[in-house]
Amino acid sequence: MENTVLSNQKLKKIEKKLKKLQHIILKEVGIECSIDKTSKILVIANAGLINGLTEEVVYTHFSKYGVLDNILLVPGKSCSFIEYNDVSSAKSAYENFNGSLNIAQDSKPIYLLYANNLPVIKINKSWNELIPGLIIIENFITQEEEEVLLKLCNFDSNTNSMKHREVKHFGYEFRYDINNVDKDKPLLNKIPDECDFWKRLEDTDFNSFKPDQLTVNHYLPGQGIPHHVDTHSAFEDPIMSLSLQSSIIMEFKKDNKHVYILLPKRSLAIMSGECRYDWTHGITPRKLDIILTKNGFTSLERGTRTSFTFRKVLQGQCFCNYKSKCDSFNKEMEKTRIGNDDASNLENEHVHKVYESIAGHFDDTRHKCWPNVVNFLESFDTGSILVDVGCGNGKYLGINKNIFDVSCDTSFNLLEICNKRGLETFIANCLNLPIKDNSVDGVISIAVIHHLANEANCCNPRNNPHFKSRRQSPNIRLGERPTQRPTKNDIHKTRPKKS
Ligand SMILES: [Zn+2]
Repeated sequence: MENTVLSNQKLKKIEKKLKKLQHIILKEVGIECSIDKTSKILVIANAGLINGLTEEVVYTHFSKYGVLDNILLVPGKSCSFIEYNDVSSAKSAYENFNGSLNIAQDSKPIYLLYANNLPVIKINKSWNELIPGLIIIENFITQEEEEVLLKLCNFDSNTNSMKHREVKHFGYEFRYDINNVDKDKPLLNKIPDECDFWKRLEDTDFNSFKPDQLTVNHYLPGQGIPHHVDTHSAFEDPIMSLSLQSSIIMEFKKDNKHVYILLPKRSLAIMSGECRYDWTHGITPRKLDIILTKNGFTSLERGTRTSFTFRKVLQGQCFCNYKSKCDSFNKEMEKTRIGNDDASNLENEHVHKVYESIAGHFDDTRHKCWPNVVNFLESFDTGSILVDVGCGNGKYLGINKNIFDVSCDTSFNLLEICNKRGLETFIANCLNLPIKDNSVDGVISIAVIHHLANEANCCNPRNNPHFKSRRQSPNIRLGERPTQRPTKNDIHKTRPKKS
């Protein structure tokens, strides 16, 4: 043990600090912690992901005192949770490390507390769980075959062509600058005959697999590969990867699900379907992998690893069903996207002109108010100021007789109808409202946004002064009551209350 057990005196010295941290943890992650009520869970109350703490470091120190069932570094917080298999292990670690283990930021000591439960975090981490489309075949090749493959590409430090790892291509070069292969420039170096193991898949769904591209990656301990999906338009389905020399933990991610998979040396990983197209995979650069097994956390020291990834170059484009990560699909979508000018012309032709011509009919058929909007309007205090942006025939105006309401629209003819009813109106485009910031208490804009012709106008606050004014005026929000009343000077236009 590197530290002696803390004396009572020293514990008292840090007690003040711990009491403060207790409140912080409760506030930050909603977990009640204790200074003296022992439990299996320890909280490092002053170090976490945002201070650069890693699972690797936590494991290295805390596994000395017993079996670890969980290590949880809370995203975006400076605290971490460690769950031991038993209370006595947690107690030993607590007594030895509290205020003395220097793994917090700038090599400062960590402070520990006991907790009864772990926080719930959004990232759903799991170990060696099945991913749809991922198959690992252990001992796919023999040790002798492994040696033959390694001899095919004798890596030395002079040929290092990439920052993070060494790489060699056969069949086609994978170009990292365009994230694709030069499909019309095959390499003279084809995949070596020694790599032809595919007869072994004869009895599987992959018996027709005939790769024409091989990428060999050589990783030293501590090197990794960033998360990526193999470019859809570059390669067919499946992708097969042999791990040589050293086992590794590969991380797979989809949305907030993170799965850590052990790829044993001499195993073949087959990625097809959802795994190939919709999950990213990567290797965290570190020297020690931490893995959760049935018997708690254990570590796996990394050695030099070489991977042989076999793929078949796709001729043509990808037609998969995993659109969000599909470069072929996104390229097609890009072509159909229309420019801003075209969009404005369309909006003018099919929105503005149409409303001018159907104003009368529109007014005849639009009288029913949506109850939630009415509730919102009625929630305002007497004397509040409300703007209806895109008011149409003004059906929401005058519902709450105790507020000042004013409305605007782009349609002159609809505003004429409003004016005949004695409503206060002005003509304006909702993207360019002539209203001062912080000048009103509430805004409604009902069934308007879908009339805007391009996505940039609708969704990008920088292109949309209407939303900009909302953002700059935190008191004014759709569907939310203001917390602070504007002063008289803020209101640039007032009018007598309607009777
Ligand atoms: Zn695709």
